[in-house]
Amino acid sequence: MTDLPSRRLLLVHAHPDDESINNGATMARYAAEGAHVTLVTCTLGERGEVIPPALAHLTGAALGAHRLRELTAAMAELGVTDFRRLGGDGRYADSGMMGIPDNDDPACFWQADVDEAAGHLLKVIQEVRPQVLVTYDPHGGYGHPDHIQAHRVATRAVELADEAGCAPAKVYWNRVPRTVGEAAFARLREALPGLSFAEAGVLEDVPGVVDDERVTTEIDGGDTHAAAKAAAMAAHATQIEVDGDWFALSNKLAQPVFRTEYYELVRGERAGARETDLFAGIDAEEAS
Ligand SMILES: [Zn+2]
Repeated sequence: MTDLPSRRLLLVHAHPDDESINNGATMARYAAEGAHVTLVTCTLGERGEVIPPALAHLTGAALGAHRLRELTAAMAELGVTDFRRLGGDGRYADSGMMGIPDNDDPACFWQADVDEAAGHLLKVIQEVRPQVLVTYDPHGGYGHPDHIQAHRVATRAVELADEAGCAPAKVYWNRVPRTVGEAAFARLREALPGLSFAEAGVLEDVPGVVDDERVTTEIDGGDTHAAAKAAAMAAHATQIEVDGDWFALSNKLAQPVFRTEYYELVRGERAGARETDLFAGIDAEEAS
């Protein structure tokens, strides 16, 4: 790929909004630095719960179309121009929360053939040749079937890319160090009386929380990229309410917006005790 920037980052997510919540600061930073940032979203989130009463009529395909517009607005906030849906818009339907009958819908992502879905992602990898891939852990961060499936598909696609000689040098899972999460919830409980949220969530609501020593990498968004992240999250208005450094999903339980985002390196060479760059140790020219 001679026409793409030398540093290329691929993120694999389940629904529109997951990218901004988990990686908004990271995506904004690398886009601003001139890296090529590619987002692959596996479903349009047609089974998400809608927060604003004025939009509560949106369900199914209409909600999916609306969420694609929200995603487009969010990517404009992050400066990301390459964002795609796995296999094309609507190829895989949102599976809904774990344990509901929608999980059995043959069209849903949970029922997808992993090899076939990974084949779609392999095509993106072959086109973009990312050095770094970011996705969820095997539990999908918090157990949503589409997040678990996104992990499986991304992992299988890396295996296929390995066989094809184009695997990303590094793969990361989204993480939150436990002590960072605990401190953030302590600040949240102090701030709560001044916020628009009635109740604080708990650390267990946050996907990907692990003991600190498993975290290999942190990306500090600073003021600029943290602000872009908050704006991108707010663009997903059917799913997220943002108030300053805090946000809530449809359950209305406040959580921190992390301005520093954390990762666990699971493939490739770790460059230092705590990496501060996902591309650390990668010779971009050599890899391109
Ligand atoms: Zn999701």
